Amino acid sequence: MSESGQLGRLPTARQIRDLYEILFEHYGPQGWWPVVSRACEPGYDARGYHRGLYPRGREDMSAFFDVVCGAVLTQNTAWKNAEAALIEMRRRRFDTFEKIISARTEDLAEAVRSSGYYNQKAKKLKFLSEVLRNLLPSSSGRGISEELSIESSEILRERLLDVWGLGPETVDSILLYAYDLPFFVIDAYTRRLLGRVFYSTGISELRRGYDVLQKIFHRSLSGSTVIYGEYHALLVRHCKESCTVRPHCIGCILNKQCLFYHGSDT
Ligand code: SF4
Repeated sequence: MSESGQLGRLPTARQIRDLYEILFEHYGPQGWWPVVSRACEPGYDARGYHRGLYPRGREDMSAFFDVVCGAVLTQNTAWKNAEAALIEMRRRRFDTFEKIISARTEDLAEAVRSSGYYNQKAKKLKFLSEVLRNLLPSSSGRGISEELSIESSEILRERLLDVWGLGPETVDSILLYAYDLPFFVIDAYTRRLLGRVFYSTGISELRRGYDVLQKIFHRSLSGSTVIYGEYHALLVRHCKESCTVRPHCIGCILNKQCLFYHGSDT
């Protein structure tokens, strides 16, 4: 019986680290989280990806805002739709948390229409902005991380998880890519890849299952936010390119160690 309380194999720390090495060697740095408002600036490509550059979102209010809003807007939709919503938000001058708080929900919803579920997402952005307003850099110039020393990052995580419509994947994306805090992001791609490569099946999709998988990554890696960020982006990349719903196993860089591949004729 596994730690999840259900049958399933969990990867060892060594396997988790080896997987990262293989993915990183093949794909290289991914430049996550894209900062739309920085597009075409030095170090950023036309869509705001910053390969090999690791800006601290918490030290840059514009990037921080983009990552926080982007994490909500990309729920249940492709990034290109969230990206379009972010661009439209900026065009309509919804570019600070204060402006989101004071905006009419229907106006904000119109701005984020391209991301789908736009009425819900506008409400989520407003609720989240209310919570974050006391955790932003002060006029004294102190950074968000210093403000956070008042309470632990775990408490912050629980506060964000209490925001209506935010689950652990969205919250950990915000903590990792905006706050630069070491919380590994688990998503459907992570579950799919671990399920296929290591036969880590039967792990609940509910919060408990999320925490089990997250702990594996936390125990296996050094706690570097750079590696956490790259690793999550690499898992997404591989699942979009090779380990798709119908996987393309022939020529896959993981087929040497993948249990699914060795147990199937795909
Ligand atoms: S070998 Fe196939 S199942 Fe395994 S990781 Fe690659 S694409 Fe996915």
